[in-house]
Amino acid sequence: MLQDRFGRTIDYLRVSVTDRCDLRCSYCLPARFTQFEEPSHWLTFAEIERVVAAFVRLGVQRVRLTGGEPLLRRNLPALAAQLKALGLRDLSLSTNATQLAKYAQSLKAAGVNRINVSLDTLDRQCMQDITGRDALAQVMAGLAAARAAELSPIKLNMVAMKGVNEAEIEAMADFALSNGYILRLIEAMPLGDTGRNAQFLELGAVRERLVERYQLVPQALELGGGPARYWQTPDGSAQIGFITPRSQHFCATCNRVRLTVDGTLYLCLGQESTVELRPLLRSGISDTELDAVIIAAIELKPERHEFNEQPTKLIRFMSQTGG
Ligand code: SAM
Repeated sequence: MLQDRFGRTIDYLRVSVTDRCDLRCSYCLPARFTQFEEPSHWLTFAEIERVVAAFVRLGVQRVRLTGGEPLLRRNLPALAAQLKALGLRDLSLSTNATQLAKYAQSLKAAGVNRINVSLDTLDRQCMQDITGRDALAQVMAGLAAARAAELSPIKLNMVAMKGVNEAEIEAMADFALSNGYILRLIEAMPLGDTGRNAQFLELGAVRERLVERYQLVPQALELGGGPARYWQTPDGSAQIGFITPRSQHFCATCNRVRLTVDGTLYLCLGQESTVELRPLLRSGISDTELDAVIIAAIELKPERHEFNEQPTKLIRFMSQTGG
């Protein structure tokens, strides 16, 4: 098992398969952002498979494909099938769902079992304002396709922002509950200027509002092994999650590291500690050496982020690290 110097077990890897995205969410990428990595810097599917295989040898059984927008990477279901064949227990995907109608069935067939869909609003104009695209209809079609393909659970990730979509939180919760989706409300993180300029909304008061509205009770069992704290309806049939990196950080239980499309291993979303794997992969490193590099990298995992103490520290956007 991979253990860091703070006693945390690392059993979860997020793999970014592209840093490109077809949306420009105001809190994520600048409107005219084009500085994407060149494809020659991208890890090939074979290289990604080698890294994931090493993590599997070291006890990681859960992988999430992310980006950028992962469905913009050509043949993504083929990569999913390659990774699933390594013996993963849980293969999931984060997506903005603009392309999901096209890919839901093949993702499921490839072994993706569950998905997270970013959805900040149910209002067409608000969606256009946040993401720069009139894409609500495609996202809704994507969600329907995911349900039809029996990807489960389907979680909706909503970055809640003061004065932007705050007034829609109840409507979003109603929508999620009535369609069998799990809503997760997320506090905007100060990643890049975009994240820093987001209209940060502390979720404590929102949680109180929703607890009262739906008579929610804290869920004892963890759901998904991630940072969200879940509350459930009294009959246990529906959950709402809260991801509060700023008002209540959860670093003490962090179980993950991130691999970016250029082969950089990020040991913390909120710090600069990284290890470059691409040069090693391309200069013939053996499997044993790769395992040793990963074990040593985990030693560098920082104790925690400093989003509140040093909000201007990170210039990279979420989309570049793999959210
Ligand atoms: N394109 C995929 C998607 O939309 O899920 C995967 C990548 S996206 C960067 C992953 C998640 O990060 C999305 O749910 C997005 O809303 C969230 N995100 C991006 N920037 C953020 C920020 N500054 N603070 C909090 N969440 C952010």
